[in-house]
Amino acid sequence: MRFCPECGTRLHQREVAGRERPVCPACGFVHYRNPVPIALAQATLEGRLLLVRRLCTPLRGYWAPPGGYVEYDEAVEDAVVRELKEETNLDFQVEELLNVYSRPNTGILFVVYRGRIVGGDPKPGDDASAVEFFAPETLPNQKPPSGADQLEHWAFSVIWEIIEDFRRRSR
Ligand SMILES: [Zn+2]
Repeated sequence: MRFCPECGTRLHQREVAGRERPVCPACGFVHYRNPVPIALAQATLEGRLLLVRRLCTPLRGYWAPPGGYVEYDEAVEDAVVRELKEETNLDFQVEELLNVYSRPNTGILFVVYRGRIVGGDPKPGDDASAVEFFAPETLPNQKPPSGADQLEHWAFSVIWEIIEDFRRRSR
C-alpha cells in the first residue's frame, strides 16, 4: 500500500508499536499487516469425511476440506457453516475447534472446526468441481505439489493433517 486509503496522501515508513509501518503523515492512518483467517471444516457424515475438489489455486484439482474467508460481519464458526453451504449445499453443525494453523509471511491462517453434516443434498458450488464423502479406506492419496510455491506446500500440509486426523479418529 503506497497511498493513504483515508485521504490519499503518500504513506511514509515510521516506527509504530515496535516496528516500521506505512503511516500517513496527514491523517495518522497506520497500515497494519495481519494474517487473514480462513475457516475450514473437518465435516463428517456416518463415519465418512467430506472433501471438495478445488477449481481454484492454490492446489487446483486437489481434494480439500471445504471452507473460505471470514467476512467482516461474521464469527469464524458462522463463516465455516456459510462457506460449507455455498461450496457443497450441505448443512454443517460445528462441534469443536480442531486446530489453528499459522505460518509467518503467508498472509493467512487456518481455523479448522470439526463437526457433522446435518442436512442438504451435496452439490458443488462455484469453486469446486466435485463434492464427495470418503470412508477412511477410500481417502484420496494425493501427491505433494511439484512447484516452488511455498503457500501451496504449506496449504497441502494443513490439508494432509486434517485428513490424517480424521483417519486416526476412525481407528
Ligand atoms: Zn491519510
